[in-house]
Amino acid sequence: MSLQEKRVNNLEELAKFCNHKGFIFQGSAIYGGLANTWDYGPLGVELKNNIRQLWWKHWVYDRDDIHGLDSAILMNPKVWEASGHVASFSDPLVDSKSSKKRYRADKLIEQFTDERPNGWAGEKTPPEVLYQFLIDKNIPDPETGETNCWTMPRMFNLMFKTKQGVLEDEASEIYLRPETAQGIFVNFKNVQRAMRQKIPFGIAQVGKAFRNEITPGNFTFRTREFEQMEVEYFFDPAQTPWRTIFEELRDYSWKFITEIIKLDPNNLRLRDHEPNELSHYSKATTDIEYKFPFGWGELCAAGAYRGAFDLTQHQNYSGKDMEYHNQLEDRKYIPHVIEPSFGLDRLVLAVLVDCFYIESVEGSTEPRKVMKFPYALAPYKLAVLPLMEKDGLAELAQKVYKNLRSQGIYCVYDDKGSIGKRYRRQDENGTPWCLTVDYQSLEDNTFTLRHRDTLQQVRINLKTLTEYLTPKAFDQSLT
Ligand code: ATP
Repeated sequence: MSLQEKRVNNLEELAKFCNHKGFIFQGSAIYGGLANTWDYGPLGVELKNNIRQLWWKHWVYDRDDIHGLDSAILMNPKVWEASGHVASFSDPLVDSKSSKKRYRADKLIEQFTDERPNGWAGEKTPPEVLYQFLIDKNIPDPETGETNCWTMPRMFNLMFKTKQGVLEDEASEIYLRPETAQGIFVNFKNVQRAMRQKIPFGIAQVGKAFRNEITPGNFTFRTREFEQMEVEYFFDPAQTPWRTIFEELRDYSWKFITEIIKLDPNNLRLRDHEPNELSHYSKATTDIEYKFPFGWGELCAAGAYRGAFDLTQHQNYSGKDMEYHNQLEDRKYIPHVIEPSFGLDRLVLAVLVDCFYIESVEGSTEPRKVMKFPYALAPYKLAVLPLMEKDGLAELAQKVYKNLRSQGIYCVYDDKGSIGKRYRRQDENGTPWCLTVDYQSLEDNTFTLRHRDTLQQVRINLKTLTEYLTPKAFDQSLT
C-alpha cells in the first residue's frame, strides 16, 4: 500500500483536531472560555506525562550528578527582590490609539519586519528606540492596519500578584512564581547537605510557572500559566572552565530534543543569544528553536550561563551563607551555575505540530489523519479490536486487553464501528499498534498486528506480542 504523506502545519486546524480528539480543550469552555487558558484532555495528559517522565529520566535517572526537587509555588517575596524579578522582569507594553489594544512592542517589530533598530536587545530594547522604530517603519496595528497610532512603550512587570492571609488588612502581597529556578537556588544548601553532594552537581525541578504575558497566543505557545522543567547545575569555575560544562549540557539538551523526543531536525535550530540580548548576569545563552507554523520560536534554553549571580543575591538578601566549602583545599566559594530550561507545554505543542499528518492512501478516497508520535510518547501503545462482538471474540479481546493493562501497558479497547473506521480512529490517537482479534484467534490464539505508519500487518501469537511493544521494535518495523 503506498502513502502520500503531508505534514499539516496549520495551528488552527491542529487546535480543532486536538479539541475533537481530546488532546487539548479550551479552558472554562462552558463559560465562554478564559482567554488563552487550555485544559489537557485524556490523550493530551498522557502525551504530556510521557514527555515529563522522559525528561526526568534523561536528567535525573540517567545521570548520577543531578537530584530532583519539588519546591513550593508560593515563596517569600524577598526571593523575587533578590532575583531581580521585582525590579526588572518586564516587557515593553505599547497601547494602540487606534484599536485601544495593548501589544508587546518588540514582538510587533518582529512580526512585521526583519529589520531591527540600532540598539536592539529584544524585550530589553529601550522604549524610546522601540517607539521611534514603530513610527519610522510604519508598523501597523495588527487589528486595524493603522500606523502612527502608538503610545510610548512602558515597562510592564509580568509577575502575578496575589494576597496571602485570611484577613484583608493582615494580608501580605505575594507572587505566583514566574520560574521554577528560584525554588532550586533557595534549596541549594539543603540538597547539597542532605545528599552529601560534592560540586559539581545539579538539581532538577518540574512545575507550574505564571507570567502575566502581554500578548499570549499561538495556541499553547505563550500562555499565562505553563509548566517548566529546569536544571540548575552548580560548578567551580576554578576547577572546570564554564565553556566545558556549558557545551556538555547544551549537547545533552539537544540530545533530549532530537533523540528522545525525536523532533524532526529540519524543524530545529540552535540560536546563541546576541551579547545585548543577554541578561546582565549571563555570559552566554543558547536556545533551541522550533519552526512552528507561525515561524521560529523558542522551545527551550539548552543552556544559560548565570555565573554566581543568583546564589550571591540570595546570600546578600537573606544574610545566609550560600558558599560551598571545598574541604580538600579548605576553600569557600559561591558556585557558578548553568541552566537548561524547558517549557513542557511548548514541547507538547512542537510534538503535535511535528507528528500531525494527513495522507492519501492508495485504494481509499478518505484521507488519513495520523499522529505519528514516537512510540515512547504515544498516549496508548496498542488498541485491542475484536472483529465482531459475538461468538466469543469480545471475550477473548477483553481478556487480552485486561492482561496487557495489568502488565502496565496502557492500551485501549475499541469495538465501535467497522475495523477500517477503528484503525483510522487509532491513527488519529497516534496509537502505534492495533491488535485485531478474529475467528482464527479463537482457534490458534494468533492475532493480526497492524503498524500505524507502514500499515503493514503481521500475524503473531500472544507470547511474541510484548516483543513488539517497545520503541525499538516499533521503529524497526518501519523499515
Ligand atoms: P519568550 O522569549 O518566548 O518569552 P523566555 O526567554 O522568557 O521565553 P525563559 O524565561 O527562558 O523564556 O523560560 C524557559 C522556557 O519556559 C522557555 O524556553 C519556554 O519553553 C517556557 N516558557 C516561557 N514563557 C512561557 C509562556 N508564557 N508560555 C509557555 N511557555 C513558556
